[in-house]
Amino acid sequence: MPVPTSKVLSPADALDLLASYPARDGLSISDLHSSASGIGTYDDFLLLPGHIDFQATAVSTATRVTRNVVLPTPFMSSPMDTVTETEMAISMALMGGIGVIHHNQPAASQAAMVRAVKRHENGFITDPVCLTPDHVVADVLDIKERLGFCGIPITDTGALGGKLLGLVTRRDVQFRPPTTPLHEVMTTDLVTAPEGVTLSEAQHLLRENKKGKLPIVDSAFRLKSLLARSDLLKNQTYPMASKHPQTKQLYCAAAIGTRPADKERLALLVDAGLDIVVLDSSQGNSSFQIDMIKWVKATYPSLEVIAGNVVTREQAANLIAAGADALRIGMGSGSICITQEVMAVGRPQATAVYAVSEFASKFGVPTIADGGIGNVGHIAKALSLGAGAVMMGGLLAGTSEAPGEYFWHDGKRVKTYRGMGSLEAMEQRASSSTPAGKLTQTNGVGKSLKGPVENAATSRYFSESSAVKVAQGVSGDVQDKGSVKPFLQYLHAGLQHSMQDMGVKSVPDLRRGVDVGEVRFEKRTVNGVVEGGVHGLNSYTKRLFA
Ligand code: GDP
Ligand code: 5GP
Repeated sequence: MPVPTSKVLSPADALDLLASYPARDGLSISDLHSSASGIGTYDDFLLLPGHIDFQATAVSTATRVTRNVVLPTPFMSSPMDTVTETEMAISMALMGGIGVIHHNQPAASQAAMVRAVKRHENGFITDPVCLTPDHVVADVLDIKERLGFCGIPITDTGALGGKLLGLVTRRDVQFRPPTTPLHEVMTTDLVTAPEGVTLSEAQHLLRENKKGKLPIVDSAFRLKSLLARSDLLKNQTYPMASKHPQTKQLYCAAAIGTRPADKERLALLVDAGLDIVVLDSSQGNSSFQIDMIKWVKATYPSLEVIAGNVVTREQAANLIAAGADALRIGMGSGSICITQEVMAVGRPQATAVYAVSEFASKFGVPTIADGGIGNVGHIAKALSLGAGAVMMGGLLAGTSEAPGEYFWHDGKRVKTYRGMGSLEAMEQRASSSTPAGKLTQTNGVGKSLKGPVENAATSRYFSESSAVKVAQGVSGDVQDKGSVKPFLQYLHAGLQHSMQDMGVKSVPDLRRGVDVGEVRFEKRTVNGVVEGGVHGLNSYTKRLFA
């Protein structure tokens, strides 16, 4: 009997046959969401590969994190006292992301950190620190100690707008007795530029003249602003830096609570130059927060407000209606978090990111996937679900830029990483400026500050008036990861490769592909997760980047 054979098609028919299928291979995002088990966590699904006709380096990771702020990379560091202070916030911004400075510290100390970030890099320095000729060398050294620079214009009034008389630089004060008046040491042979000069013209002049500073003056030689050569170098070293388009200063965000005292705190932060405020609450759908959003938007219309945290459309709707410029998504997904265990409230993070982002996108409100980011793949997945950025705590903890000292634990060099809802964080008071004996509070330029600390952690978890504090997080330690800068470079390059595999060249391209069902998803089984990890080896070393 002849064996029946199925007809073998010509390779030329491959695309026609493909077009005859009713749908693309894999699942659309809405099919994944409405599947019996929902989207679940980041590890419960994968994206299917697309078509590549471009280099990974051509992929743009630029993304909108609030209504009016676009960053070169979608990376944010958490407002946690073991993650983001001055050093982390500066490094995050230099590498194209943004740091959110925590508020478990006195308001003045948090404001000093914001100021240090904003002062770190400039276009025109429009409020340069000035002195008079009668000030002394010790005054310059004090500025160097507090603010980190000592290129000081000398004016007759000791302020911006005064007649420019000279400039004091590092070398002018070196080896001089502290009581030497500045008129004895200042340089008077100045190269200046006239008011009205463009930034690129002034930068050109600075490059050509090999000077450290370029004062900008009006026709009466009154000081109008200053340009620093070191900023040209920073531009060169950090081409991806996240900067305010007008001032060219690094973007800086900071967290506050939603109680009346936080309004005073915010005034100090805004005065220090804050760009984005994060209303820090574990459950954002409260009257406190709704009132606070309205008050902030009415009081500081140009300040961007990130509200949250939320995990449902209903929570999101209230905060969007109140005027939020972005939403922070996550409840119980953080690596140090025990909320879901203790409170029985929360949501698997991938489901939450999709549900909230899908709703918020209809109002042009970006979202931030906060918590549970453990690797580059999670970042790519969060973006594919509609998030504009990811917020990371544990992944950035243990880097040299994270607050706190290294110590040894079981033979490993580690730093403390603790939940803001851990008893350790909630119990921190003004007197205990070194939680767990490992952290120090600084004003961002290395000086310890003392003062009353309204405990931010208790208000985040609504526990300030409770007789018994119920922990929602743990305290532990994470291994030394070295500097955060190469690590962020790795996250960026990894994300570019991931997006290349999906066949998308940018975050908007990814969003469009997901919306029209071109970017496809696949559910992962438990066995699928095992298969996707390293398996079957006796031992191995996992090096992530070089
Ligand atoms: P200096 O030579 O000691 O003044 O320091 P650098 O030129 O190396 O660094 C100055 C850095 O501080 C630049 O990135 C400036 O943008 C920044 N900066 C911020 N505010 C001021 C200011 O008021 N005066 C000066 N000189 N620099 C400032
Ligand atoms: P990670 O990146 O470590 O997974 O998560 C960091 C996020 O966890 C933070 O941005 C914050 O939203 C959340 N978080 C920080 N501390 C606590 C805590 O003590 N309890 C809970 N439930 N969440 C926390």
